[in-house]
Amino acid sequence: MLFAAFITLNQFVLHINGVPTWYDLFGIRRPISDAVANGEAKVHFIDVGQGDCELIVTESKAVLIDCGEREYAGTVVQYIKSLGIDKLDYVICTHPHSDHIGGMYSVISEIDTDTVIMPRVKDEITPTTSSYARLLESIEDNGIKVEYAQAGKELPLEEGGYIELLAPVEDYDDLNNYSVVCRFIHGGNAFLFTGDIEKEAESDILSSGADVRAQVIKVPHHGSSTSSSYAFVKRVAPEYAVFEVGSPNDYGHPHKETVQTYTDAGCTFLRTDMNGSIVFTSDGKSLTYETEK
Ligand SMILES: [Zn+2]
Repeated sequence: MLFAAFITLNQFVLHINGVPTWYDLFGIRRPISDAVANGEAKVHFIDVGQGDCELIVTESKAVLIDCGEREYAGTVVQYIKSLGIDKLDYVICTHPHSDHIGGMYSVISEIDTDTVIMPRVKDEITPTTSSYARLLESIEDNGIKVEYAQAGKELPLEEGGYIELLAPVEDYDDLNNYSVVCRFIHGGNAFLFTGDIEKEAESDILSSGADVRAQVIKVPHHGSSTSSSYAFVKRVAPEYAVFEVGSPNDYGHPHKETVQTYTDAGCTFLRTDMNGSIVFTSDGKSLTYETEK
């Protein structure tokens, strides 16, 4: 679907398959959030329907967390390239479910990728799905480094900006709880990315003593009521709750109990099914956001 709308007298934005791209009157393509300005960082929650996809961009680094189902791989690659990004320093695969890593084999073969981070899952539940097999094959074919997520490890990005890995901290019987959880800190701003953790993993993260506070939370497991315990949300104390959900979806996400939890926490709600892609800009002190819709 092609949709064009004039924004000002001299530029307009086209939404092609959900990817916002700005053009000037001469038809020169200008991505909506091209480069980050000095000292800024941007966090993109890319609309991939019922699935997760987040992109962290600092002045010289880019980190992709998940990429949605296979059918969105092209959209994600185009989105990243339209920002002028030709290298991903880290790709975090939170856990091997297809709504998170379905298209990752394609993304990492089309965009130069340095390191893939994933959870080390116990043998009994290691998936045998084609999306996971393709991912491992693509990692090998493209000579990409693999690191298993270790809670407490820091990934330095830019002066004043880094990612801290918070989970998994235990072994589990299901893949959702194995999700890599990480926190991006940029000056006084923090973003918490939670994959599909359930209440069990949330509780373990709190018990680990990790600092989970964040202005922005990627709501765990698409707003499922099996996640977002009061204790966890209270400790995170988010101002913005970002739900990555498809419309419609088969799971009834987000569940109304979860919406209530974040309402009680006084959060501003953002949803990819209603807002499209969402982009936060941090200058290390203040935080602003823009949405596709
Ligand atoms: Zn999921």
